[in-house]
Amino acid sequence: MNSNCILAEIAEALRENQTFVVMSHLRPDGDAIGSVIALALALKGAGKEVTVWNHDGPMEKLRFLPGSDLIAKPPATPQDFDVALVLDTSTQPRLGDSLAAVRKAKLWINLDHHISNTGFGDLVYIDVPAPATGQIVFELIRAAGYPLTPAIADNLWAAIATDTGSFQYSNTSARTFEIGAELIAAGVDVGKISEQLFQTHPRRRLELLRALLNTMQFTCDGRAASFSLPLATAAQIGAGPEDTEGLIDTLRSTEGVLVAAFFEELEGGRVRVSMRSKDPRYDVCKICAQFGGGGHILASGARIKGGLATVEAQVLKAISDAIQQQP
Ligand code: 5GP
Ligand code: MN
Repeated sequence: MNSNCILAEIAEALRENQTFVVMSHLRPDGDAIGSVIALALALKGAGKEVTVWNHDGPMEKLRFLPGSDLIAKPPATPQDFDVALVLDTSTQPRLGDSLAAVRKAKLWINLDHHISNTGFGDLVYIDVPAPATGQIVFELIRAAGYPLTPAIADNLWAAIATDTGSFQYSNTSARTFEIGAELIAAGVDVGKISEQLFQTHPRRRLELLRALLNTMQFTCDGRAASFSLPLATAAQIGAGPEDTEGLIDTLRSTEGVLVAAFFEELEGGRVRVSMRSKDPRYDVCKICAQFGGGGHILASGARIKGGLATVEAQVLKAISDAIQQQP
């Protein structure tokens, strides 16, 4: 998907309008939440009326971010805005209940870095090489001439650090580090925020990892690894959606593993699949697209109808086919 505008045009649209709703995808990660809060704070600083919605509301583990109290669940009664800003969200249905809560917006702006973005909206800016939507929001805030306050800097750091795996993934560029330097200059306390983001998990997350490792399977001669979470296990541990983030990295970081998959049983007879690759030749966005999902070449997901065992078998077959297609 290509952009149909440049950031300067989006900056102008921000300047020219007064009421905004800023939204991101359901089951939000640090990039979605950090990007949304950062842009909302910048707009509020410029005197705009800003509403921030997420289908799942603010995530408990990201409550420490300054401005996280701005995030509300979308209301049942739809509202009108001058501008609807959609960040880090590849398809409109990924907005969940936020989508129907916008009755009318004069202008829809779609700002993202997902290769699978469908290009919805009036002003579309998709920067696939950008490692995080937070990096694009940084450039937009600069283009609009808004000040980089310490609170905005913290949120952009959370966004970028989340999606780059703490500035480690291959999409981390010289520009990402330049932005990191500017965020530190603007007030980010790296040690403190890293601890809050990555070193402060509830004990139940470790219990969850133990349960997941008990289901671990290696297929394709050790080139694929997976584990799965039945609803009953999640209930027994008391684990919620936000406890699972990042656990799949344990599989991906194992020697010889090219593709890792995490299967999570959802209410209503569906399974959420999270997938990671270590090598762009094994494009997990393509594998997930076969099941109606998407994301990035090296990190993607899908929600698939069916029981846990059935979905697992189907997806592991698709992973095996993708691995075997390569020489
Ligand atoms: P995660 O595995 O961390 O939930 O998601 C990895 C990437 O895949 C993220 O960029 C996320 O937006 C995308 N993704 C996850 N689940 C889905 C899905 O059901 N549909 C689509 N289109 N993308 C998804
Ligand atoms: Mn992102």
